[in-house]
Amino acid sequence: MKTVYCIGELLIDFVAEKQGSNLSKAIDFTKKAGGAPANVACAIAKLGGNSSFIGTVGKDPFGTFLLDVLKDNGVNISFAQRTETFTTLAFVSLAEDGERDFVFSQGADQELDYDSKIGSLYKNNLVHFGAATAMLGGSLEETYRRYFDDAIAQNAFISFDPNFRIDLWKGNETTFIEKCIPFIEKSNLCKFSSEEAQLISGKSNLEDCCDYFHEMGVQVITITLGGEGTLLSTVSSKQTIGSIDVRPVDTTGAGDAFIGCLLRQVSTLENPHDIVKNLDQMIDFVKIANKAGAITTTGFGAIPSLPNYKEIFD
Ligand code: ATP
Repeated sequence: MKTVYCIGELLIDFVAEKQGSNLSKAIDFTKKAGGAPANVACAIAKLGGNSSFIGTVGKDPFGTFLLDVLKDNGVNISFAQRTETFTTLAFVSLAEDGERDFVFSQGADQELDYDSKIGSLYKNNLVHFGAATAMLGGSLEETYRRYFDDAIAQNAFISFDPNFRIDLWKGNETTFIEKCIPFIEKSNLCKFSSEEAQLISGKSNLEDCCDYFHEMGVQVITITLGGEGTLLSTVSSKQTIGSIDVRPVDTTGAGDAFIGCLLRQVSTLENPHDIVKNLDQMIDFVKIANKAGAITTTGFGAIPSLPNYKEIFD
């Protein structure tokens, strides 16, 4: 089995206990591990795959907590870095009108240093770029680009999820799009939500969005559609693949579970690039990845709700 290297942020989400009031009124918060690439690494490891997390936390108790969560879920954390800067924190509450009230204290995740030894491990493996904060500047952005170049040079199978967060990019959406394009055009697999596909392509129809990305050079596109399943698109075929019926209680992390489960399956191939040649296999993989996404919505929080091997493959 190949390794999936997941690069990007690992942070604390402080979620207000009593939803329905804004942050200024919130009193109690629950501490949760967050960060899309870290969720993906956990999803893969919980399903029995090999995943390594590459990112930075602070040398503080929150950084220790986060790395412990990854380790306890089976993720290789030997490439994670720790700095003197405090671990990145996000505080979130749902205000009365249903809008998210969000405060972001950016910290250690932005300080990822490049290490050419890590870049040289990508050969014939898979690399997932899914950081919501990688385009915000700092050494993370520069390191991200260098690791992306390494992944291309080593013929790694590259997966990209833009993880657009309106809280981070409000009013600067064009900059976000411009920064994402160079990654999208050189990735083998891109995972979008429908809102991301529409925002980045500027098209409203999802099939048109896919054509736009295929013209850029992307071979496989998945657009996740919540309870409706996933639109899978290749240059020659498009289909919506249904999910299973569940009673969702919290959709956080469903997309990360989906892409993690998909990559976990691709990582079992002798040559991950071969997935592009076998549409039936791709459809089967997406069906199973939908199940992983669906199960994740049935529990609270992202990482605790990710399914294990038995729930998905037995
Ligand atoms: P995220 O919310 O994590 O940022 P996302 O918007 O990409 O990511 P969703 O589309 O909500 O994620 O979910 C990912 C996948 O999980 C879907 O493609 C679908 O297969 C499955 N899924 C999500 N919600 C449900 C649901 N209510 N019922 C069944 N399957 C679901």
